[in-house]
Amino acid sequence: MPNKPIYRRVLLKASGEALMGEQGFGIDVSVADRIAADIKEARSMGVEVGVVIGGGNIFRGVAVASKGGDRVTGDHMGMLATIINSLALRTSLIKAGVDAVVLSAIAMPELCESFSQRQATAYMDAGKVVIFAGGTGNPFFTTDSAAALRAAEIGADALFKGTQVDGVYSADPKKDPNAKRFEKITHAEVLREGLAVMDTAAIALARENNIPIIVYSIHETGGFGAILRGEGRCTVVSET
Ligand code: UDP
Repeated sequence: MPNKPIYRRVLLKASGEALMGEQGFGIDVSVADRIAADIKEARSMGVEVGVVIGGGNIFRGVAVASKGGDRVTGDHMGMLATIINSLALRTSLIKAGVDAVVLSAIAMPELCESFSQRQATAYMDAGKVVIFAGGTGNPFFTTDSAAALRAAEIGADALFKGTQVDGVYSADPKKDPNAKRFEKITHAEVLREGLAVMDTAAIALARENNIPIIVYSIHETGGFGAILRGEGRCTVVSET
């Protein structure tokens, strides 16, 4: 008999880079399918799941700005990239038999519905996976901030940050063999030490709204479900 999940409603943030797999650009459908399978497992446990996906596998606004172009237009392009990724994940979820909807912060009625907090929570109450596309809808933000914002809006019990490694480290474990891994740490410590978890605005928003951040490896098949059962490998960022 599987353990009862330790969270009822969660927001999962995956970077766009996670979706590109080994390709170096764009979307590896097999990776989208695997993330969809992890979400399906969470749904089978009765956990309500919202998702925010980044756009870094396709475009980031800073790429325009660093070449002397207009940052705001660049960020608009980045937000469009997140919509492409969201449609890809929705496709994988539907293929896996998981009911899912994309709600975009930027109106695109031909492609997906527009975001509203009321509609999002109604869909989640009804058991649909809600994918929040288009970031916050504003330039100069990131999808980390969008994830913290949506987590607060939907009343998520936890914000899952899927990363390349299995938690928060004192330094990059791929470069520093002495990097220390934390089991638990507070939002304030993450901010004070400048640890690479999520951007500062996202951590501050999560802290203000008392939302724990669960940092885990997005590449570990079944890792999401294991953490939801209280068994998986992760770092918990919380005030308690
Ligand atoms: N972006 C934005 N506002 C937002 C979210 C994202 O302008 O609220 C743009 C920004 O240019 C960013 C890009 O979309 O670089 C892709 O998002 P992000 O870099 O967060 O993706 P990730 O690193 O998670 O793949």
